[in-house]
Amino acid sequence: MITRAQQRDAQERAAALMDAAGVRLAPGEHQAIAVADFGLGRLEVEGAQILTIVETDRIAAKVIALLGGQTLPEHWHPPVGDDPGKEETLRVIRGPLYLYTPGPDTLAQGAIPPGKEACYTVRHEQVLDAGDTVTLPPGLPHWFQAGPEGAVLYSFSTTARDILDGFTDPDIVRQTVIAE
Ligand code: ZN
Repeated sequence: MITRAQQRDAQERAAALMDAAGVRLAPGEHQAIAVADFGLGRLEVEGAQILTIVETDRIAAKVIALLGGQTLPEHWHPPVGDDPGKEETLRVIRGPLYLYTPGPDTLAQGAIPPGKEACYTVRHEQVLDAGDTVTLPPGLPHWFQAGPEGAVLYSFSTTARDILDGFTDPDIVRQTVIAE
């Protein structure tokens, strides 16, 4: 749960990061930035700010801004019916962004959020900077974290059903509750 004030603050900071990265928003569009705390209640550590540019039954494009050191928790995009699951391409606009996927543990620049060792199981680190692009196949576990100054990236994908994503952390609730 986050408060309305926390939501507004995170929207403003995310909009500023996007602007500094050269991503221009329409007037008032910062209010459409979704602030996700994944039900964990520690937004600055584990969370994300996500602006959906387009979302149809076939494709999705989003801008994701992460505050300094903020982590988008480990998750994967499972099959849904006949759909093998969301295929997602990340394009970094402002880095560094530390991306983790299965493979040899090379975690060095980023850090596991405190107390959450069991919830971050894939630790093959890629340090991505502006202009770097990575495509993640459906079902592949991944998580990512901003460097100290924050990060901005595009997420281009097949249709997104965020609510059905799988998360390693059993405490995660995808729908953010805003307290008035
Ligand atoms: Zn993903």
